[in-house]
Amino acid sequence: MVSNADLGELLWRAARDETDHRRRALERASRASRFWPSEASDVVSAGRPLTELRAVGPWVSSMLEGWLDDPPAVPEPDETRRGFLTFAEVRTTLDAEPEWEATSCADLQMHTTFSDGSLSLREMIEAARSLGRTFVAITDHSETLTIANGMSPERLAHQGRAIDDLNRGSEDANDPFRILRAIETDVFADGSLDMDDASLATLDLVLGAFHSKLRSTDDETPRYLAALGQHRLHVLAHPKARMYGRRIGLIADWRRVFAEAARLGKALELDATVWRQDLNVELATIAREEGVRWFSIGSDAHSAEELGFLSFGMATAVRAGIPRDRILNYRSAESVRAWASELSGGRRTA
Ligand SMILES: [Zn+2]
Repeated sequence: MVSNADLGELLWRAARDETDHRRRALERASRASRFWPSEASDVVSAGRPLTELRAVGPWVSSMLEGWLDDPPAVPEPDETRRGFLTFAEVRTTLDAEPEWEATSCADLQMHTTFSDGSLSLREMIEAARSLGRTFVAITDHSETLTIANGMSPERLAHQGRAIDDLNRGSEDANDPFRILRAIETDVFADGSLDMDDASLATLDLVLGAFHSKLRSTDDETPRYLAALGQHRLHVLAHPKARMYGRRIGLIADWRRVFAEAARLGKALELDATVWRQDLNVELATIAREEGVRWFSIGSDAHSAEELGFLSFGMATAVRAGIPRDRILNYRSAESVRAWASELSGGRRTA
């Protein structure tokens, strides 16, 4: 069978032989193929037109039909495009394990206009709520990430007060929905965090992620071990820091890194953004084998539409054999708070 992943790769290669609008049409279809809800081969078998798929017009449709009729050798994708699930694969995976989507859960990474998101705090929370999320962690960036409009300690405190107000409103209305005060703090190359300890102590949940020197070809194991050792860090976010089509991310002795996360009881993120999928299935499997106890799924949404990415993280967990009771998203807001607080050695400050 020629999968959507194969078709995406063939479209990408075909785009290299074209110019201008034809090239753009093929590149657009290649990117869109990651989101097609069914395998194109199934659409054809069902007698439906391929033009029902996003970014497929008559010209692209005839190319796809040619490949499906007479499958060509599919070139091995560039390393930056390997190990990503397509949405068709996500659907097949979760349709076979329906309780993952049937059970309401949280979303533990998203961004607002407090850093580089496109919606205000209130709008993003409303969007997540309307999708049935049980609680959310608001994880805007820390100060050093200036390209992402990172927050100063003062802005973080301001956001925290706004979240407290919203939570109080929910409590008064007897609404169980909660918002965790959180952050995606930058982690420097020496493992230290880009936010003062007193500010971090006010948060319910601290995600830490690397955003610098991501093209290093060295073994970065020491960087990971140093980061995991930070008592304020609860979740190592998008651990490999890879990006589809752009970079493979960092290199490390993953068994050692994950064994350390397991020993310390820290969570690893399954960043569900389509272009990240970080950890991917292969690394998530190794993490499970090394005994990592907790995983955290975050859509890493910067818009309302991207909140839908969460299913990519669920499918990654299923394919890696991670049981649902090891996913923080399926616990209550209060138990995630208590877990994080215990890791940091006590209650958060007000
Ligand atoms: Zn990030």
